[in-house]
Parts: sequence; C-alpha cells; structure tokens
Amino acid sequence: MSSFKKGGMIILSSPSGAGKTTLVKKIVKNKNFFVSVSHTTRKPRPNEKNGKDYFFTSKNNFKKLIKAKKFLEYAKVFENYYGSSKDLIIKKLKKGKNVVFDIDWQGTRQIRNKNLNYNLLTIFILPPSKSELFKRLIKRENKNMKTVQKRMKGFKKDLSRWKEYDQVVINDDLKTCYKKIMKTIKNYSKLNYDKKIIKGHVKKLLS
Ligand code: ADP
Ligand code: 5GP
Repeated sequence: MSSFKKGGMIILSSPSGAGKTTLVKKIVKNKNFFVSVSHTTRKPRPNEKNGKDYFFTSKNNFKKLIKAKKFLEYAKVFENYYGSSKDLIIKKLKKGKNVVFDIDWQGTRQIRNKNLNYNLLTIFILPPSKSELFKRLIKRENKNMKTVQKRMKGFKKDLSRWKEYDQVVINDDLKTCYKKIMKTIKNYSKLNYDKKIIKGHVKKLLS
C-alpha cells in the first residue's frame, strides 16, 4: 500500500521557471491533496490572489511571524522572504491528508532536518533546456527582463541542489511530467530514477 494513503508531505523544488507551481496546482486537484500556501514579502504577480497563491505580507509582519514561531520553515529567496505556515500544515497532516509544498532547497533542508513523524517525499524538477526555461520565465514575468535576468542568474546555484532530492523529473511535456510525479507519489518511490540520464541532462543544462 502506498504510504501516501496515510498522508504526508510532498515537496517540489526547482530552478525558477521550471514549472513546479504549475505542477503543484495539478497535483492538488486530486482528492486528499492540499497545497501549503506560503507567506511571502514578494509583490503579487498580476494573476496572483492573496490567500490562494500566497499570503502576501510586509517584511515587518513576516518578522513578527518568525518571532511567534509560526513557520515550519522559512528562507530568503531572490531578496524576499518566504515561509510555510506551521499550524495549517500540521492540522492537515494530523487528519491524514497530503500536503504539497512549492519551496526552495533551503526550506526542504529545514523540513528534512526536523525529522517529523510524517512521510516525506522530495522531488526536484528540471527544465528540458536552458533556452526553454528562459522562454517560460519571459512568458510568466510578462517580459519584465530585470526579474527574468535575476531568476536566470540564480539558475546554476539552484540547479546544483538536485542531488539532495529523492526524485528528479524533467518537465518537458507537462502531462508526461505530471503523470510521472503522480506515479512516484503513489509508489512512494525514492531514488528509482536513472541517475546517469539525469546527470547527463544536468551537464547539458550547465554547458
Ligand atoms: P516555477 O514555479 O518553477 O517557477 P511555473 O510553474 O511558474 O514555474 O512555470 C513557469 C512558466 O512556464 C509558466 O508560465 C507556466 O505556465 C509554464 N510552464 C510550466 N510547465 C510547462 C511545460 N511543461 N511546458 C510549457 N510551459 C510550461
Ligand atoms: P516565486 O517568487 O517564483 O513564487 O518563488 C520563488 C522561490 O521561492 C521558488 O523557488 C519557490 O519554490 C520558493 N518558495 C515559495 N514559497 C516558499 C516557502 O514557503 N519557503 C521556502 N523556503 N521557499 C519558498
């Protein structure tokens, strides 16, 4: 029986623009899956809604929440703060639900190191190529090249974290990638991906 029938935490991380937010939204359409809506000090994008995509908040309020120990994890990413709300997550987990996170490697490390008494599966998403990633970022950021460049600048560093994850999946065709992830979750399959293929792909992305 899949461990995730009893609930647990599923984390998706990737270099910015690889598609994890899109994938998380698809995953949580399944019964018993819930997204962990993070707090952030980043400004909302035109299509983003407060409480649905993020809880948008000021730096001051974020600092108050840190002090009050309201975060399961938090980190500074691209000059903004992001954090996962502890109470909401624990409430869902206690009810045997699956909580899906779209967080970076720093937050993943913090959750892993907590050794909570819940299943944990960490998945790293890779883009098919650097040029496709660039295209996706331009589309998402409405051609705001300053933001696109900032995200692309962080690409190599973000990419270097792939080895810390249980599973690594390439997001070329969205449907195929989603299916692979759901299969991984269903089987709770850690480390059964082809390391040689992924290593080769990462090398190509870095060249
Ligand atoms: P991330 O959360 O990893 O930063 P997003 O999910 O915001 O990335 O995706 C970045 C952009 O790429 C979005 O405009 C999204 O619609 C698009 N996208 C995501 N996955 C694919 C895919 N497989 N093929 C084409 N476009 C994609
Ligand atoms: P974006 O601004 O594109 O929505 O997110 C930027 C980065 O912050 C992404 O790598 C995303 O996964 C990460 N992120 C979003 N929410 C959280 C969170 O609550 N904690 C951590 N550590 N990272 C987060």
